[in-house]
Amino acid sequence: MKYINTKAFAEEQDQNDPLSHFRSQFHFPVKADGSPKIYLCGNSLGLQPTQTSGYVQQELNDWAKFGVEGHTDAKTPWLTSHEDLAQPMAKIVGAKPEEVVIMNTLTVNLHLMMVSFYKPTQKKFKILIESDAFPSDKYAVESQLKFHNINPEDGLILWKPSEGEHLCRHEDFEELLETHKDEIALVMVGSTNYYSGQAFDLKRIAKRCQDENITVGFDLAHGAGNIQPNLHDIGADFAVWCTYKYLNSGPGSIGGCFVHEKHIQNQSINRFVGWWGHNKDSRFNMRVGFDPTPTADGWQLSNPPILSLAGTRSSLDLFEKAGFENLRRKSVKLTGFLEFLIDELNNTDISILTPRSPEERGCQLSIQMKNADRSLFDQLTAQGVVADWREPDVIRIAPAPLYNSFTDVYEFVQLLKLCLYGN
Ligand SMILES: *Cc1c(COP(=O)(O)O)cnc(C)c1O
Repeated sequence: MKYINTKAFAEEQDQNDPLSHFRSQFHFPVKADGSPKIYLCGNSLGLQPTQTSGYVQQELNDWAKFGVEGHTDAKTPWLTSHEDLAQPMAKIVGAKPEEVVIMNTLTVNLHLMMVSFYKPTQKKFKILIESDAFPSDKYAVESQLKFHNINPEDGLILWKPSEGEHLCRHEDFEELLETHKDEIALVMVGSTNYYSGQAFDLKRIAKRCQDENITVGFDLAHGAGNIQPNLHDIGADFAVWCTYKYLNSGPGSIGGCFVHEKHIQNQSINRFVGWWGHNKDSRFNMRVGFDPTPTADGWQLSNPPILSLAGTRSSLDLFEKAGFENLRRKSVKLTGFLEFLIDELNNTDISILTPRSPEERGCQLSIQMKNADRSLFDQLTAQGVVADWREPDVIRIAPAPLYNSFTDVYEFVQLLKLCLYGN
């Protein structure tokens, strides 16, 4: 795609964008003068769809009207409310509906999955993760090691970028696996790294793990709604994600979880269980032994938070309307435009840490600003840009294809210029 560094070009792209009408279906935070801020932070918290309040209000009304009978009489009966979300969510992560369950939150699901899929033995007990994993993932993995009386110093293998680099090389992953294959019990990596924006080749990682008979799970926090990870086909054993970043379901909203179908009926896999994972037919007959639902639902513990499900339903309805492939097509163009404009600044202090190839990234670019400090970011914030700053000198910009425009991206770079060079 050929880009031009003008506002007219950005506006023309917006006019020709078949998804441009979705923008008006989101609430944008506004500046003091009432105009919308330039929101480029969907990697942290997605914006609120305007229709979400209606979805939530419906549940409140049904609760008011029916009380406990809302479980069966609500517009979306609460008893089965999560079930019809599995289908649209499965499309987003490339799974079969029976492999997907919407439950809990990300870190909780990660622990539940490790309870089932991290099976250390005397010899094979190590966990491999990427070195720049999100802190919560690292804490979760370390605490699982400790839970099995393994010192994280002995049990953790870090996949690191080479000296002086920011990205992890797959060759290094493969070398680590070759060296440690007899000791590794689990590989758990983020599908798209939260810091660098690097999207790993999940197929390549999964294949290598399968060749060595090593369990592999993915954290899709920055992947779900951003890239399509094809979980079923690549044969991931499990995956977990949140829905409040690119999936716009609301702060702290309910998470997602994938269990590959090859494991679902395997009764030898242990799990932590609760009543909501019990077969629906006899769930309310409280005197029988645990009989898991023969889908990923069998990993559920509790009855789900209906208000969070309402936010998730609203969001997934929008994704269904937009079509994930259309979103991804726009995303590649939009982020490519951002990359082009940053390159046009021709400033040797500014570099893009994220890979240059669209296949190796989602929508986020992590931009390193040498010799800058937080004051630059604070200036941008004062100008109405919502982005994310990571110490010491990285700004993360994530144009979300569902609601961001080419003009947003253009204006962001204009403001960056203003903050860097003055008028
Ligand atoms: C956002 C994020 C989390 C957040 O975890 P919660 O349990 O939803 O609070 C965890 N891991 C990664 C990689 C994330 O990006």
